[in-house]
Amino acid sequence: MKERHVAIVLAAGKGRRMNSKVQKQYLLVHEKPVLFYSLSVFEKCPFIDEVILVTGHGEERYCRKEIVESYGFRKVKKIVPGGKERYHSVYEGIKAAGGCDYLYIHDGARPFITQEILERGKKAVEQYGSCVVGMPVKDTIKLIDEDRFAVQTPEREKVWLVQTPQIFRYDLIKEAYEKLMNSDQTGITDDAMVVERMMGEKVKLVEGSYQNIKITTPEDLGIAELFSQ
Ligand code: C5P
Repeated sequence: MKERHVAIVLAAGKGRRMNSKVQKQYLLVHEKPVLFYSLSVFEKCPFIDEVILVTGHGEERYCRKEIVESYGFRKVKKIVPGGKERYHSVYEGIKAAGGCDYLYIHDGARPFITQEILERGKKAVEQYGSCVVGMPVKDTIKLIDEDRFAVQTPEREKVWLVQTPQIFRYDLIKEAYEKLMNSDQTGITDDAMVVERMMGEKVKLVEGSYQNIKITTPEDLGIAELFSQ
């Protein structure tokens, strides 16, 4: 039987660092909302069967009308409300995705994923069971103490910036998140962490792209305008 690949696109964040009344996923880049770009890539991807959009509470109708229907995204089968932190929103998406084989978790605030990135991710998740997209850092990274003194300088060749999508076998990510929800762990900033900590499994990194930025602060919008030309 054909395996089922489902994507969760996260758009329930408040985007406080953007200093804008409009949440970052709805801001316009070349006259289209940020969210439009990643949804288009999933829509056109031949092996993605379904997309679940996770939005803020009360934004479901707006997203259905102004984004899903307005741009004709037929793979978006469900729109579900998210939660307080990113990982709460992911958990809502995982529950809504029941019954698939592989789950692609993607930040709606990252408009510039490509078909090539999704293909690399598919290959790796089928081989390793979990993988996250990322890129090697260009700058030297310092770990600091509470007084902002450098305490460690990791070898640059071994440091990667992590992006999304983060892709997992569905049973693995579901179990990892269920364990997380029954634990007192905090400070969860990505999905790989949940699999590493809760399941003790290694997560493979695959090459993303330096254009796969997350729109976070106002200057990112100018960069996004350039990248989307
Ligand atoms: O806050 P941050 O920039 O890390 O958010 C990454 C992605 O997670 C964004 O697409 C944002 O909309 C989403 N998010 C969410 N629910 C939250 C917080 C963030 O869906 N509670």
